Amino acid sequence: MQAATTIAEIRAWVRMTRAAGRTVGFVPTMGALHVGHVSLIQAATARCDCVVVSIFVNPTQFSPGEDFEKYPRPLEQDLAICERHGVDAVFAPSPSEMYPRENLTWVTVERVSEPLCGRFRPGHFRGVATVCTKLFNIVGADAAFFGQKDAQQVAVIQRMVADLNLPLEIVVCPTVREPDGLAVSSRNQYLSPQERKQAPVIYRSLQRSADLIRAGEKEVARITEQMREVLGQVPALRIEYVSIVDAASLEDLERVKGKVLVAVAMRLGSTRLIDNIVVDVDTE
Ligand code: AMP
Repeated sequence: MQAATTIAEIRAWVRMTRAAGRTVGFVPTMGALHVGHVSLIQAATARCDCVVVSIFVNPTQFSPGEDFEKYPRPLEQDLAICERHGVDAVFAPSPSEMYPRENLTWVTVERVSEPLCGRFRPGHFRGVATVCTKLFNIVGADAAFFGQKDAQQVAVIQRMVADLNLPLEIVVCPTVREPDGLAVSSRNQYLSPQERKQAPVIYRSLQRSADLIRAGEKEVARITEQMREVLGQVPALRIEYVSIVDAASLEDLERVKGKVLVAVAMRLGSTRLIDNIVVDVDTE
C-alpha cells in the first residue's frame, strides 16, 4: 500500500495507475476509520480496479468552538485498517499541504447547503464542498464513494458535481448501523456509557416516521410530532432539528410525497449526532 502525504506523491501514483489502464475509486474520510468507512472501501473495491482513501481532518469545515482539535486522529490504526482491507493508496496530507496559504477561493452550493445542518453549522458545507473539489482535483478518480449517513453532504456534493461538470461519478452507500440501530460514527466514541445506551432512541424515532408513512400518514407536522415524542424518552437529548424534506432538493414539505428524507440532528451531552432515512412514499 502506498502511503502519500504530499499532493505530488499521490498524483504521481494515480498517474502511473491510470497509465496502466486501471480505474481509480476514491473514499474521502477524516480518519478514525470504522465499519462505515470500510463499507465504502468495499464498495469502491467492487467497482474500481484500485482504491485511494484520503485521511484529512479538514479545518475549513469546522466552526470555532466545534471539535476540530479534539477530533480523533489514530493514524497508525487507520493505515492498518486500510492495509487490511486492500486499499491501494492512502493520501494523508497535513493542513499546510492542503492549505499552504490563506484560502480565497471557495465552492458554495446555494440552497442545498442552507437547511438542516446548514442552519446549525454555518460555513460547514462550504468547507466540505471546497475540500472535496480540491481532493477530486488532486486524486483524479473515476468515482468517489460517500455514505448516506451524511445525507446533506451527499446532496451538496452531487449538486456540485452536476453544476460544475466534475468528471467523476458519485456513489452513495447505505448507512452502517450498530446492532441496536445507532448509526456508526467516529463521534460515537465521545459518548459516555450512559449516553451510548440512550443514543439508539434516535434511530427508533426514524423508524417511527417510516411506520407512520407506511400506514398512510401524509402530514409532516403529525409525523415529526410523533418523532419528537419518541425522542422525548431521553430528556437529556437536545434536538436541533427533526425534518422531513424532499430527498433531492432538501426543500421543506408539508405533506410527504415521492422520495423524502427524514433527517434529525441532536446533542447528547457535548456530542452532536445526526441520522436519517430515505422513504419512498410511492413504493411504501
Ligand atoms: P467522515 O470520516 O466522518 O468524514 O466520513 C467519511 C465518509 O464515510 C463519508 O462519506 C461518510 O458519510 C461515510 N460514513 C460515515 N459513517 C458512516 C456509516 N455509519 N455508514 C456509511 N457511511 C458512513
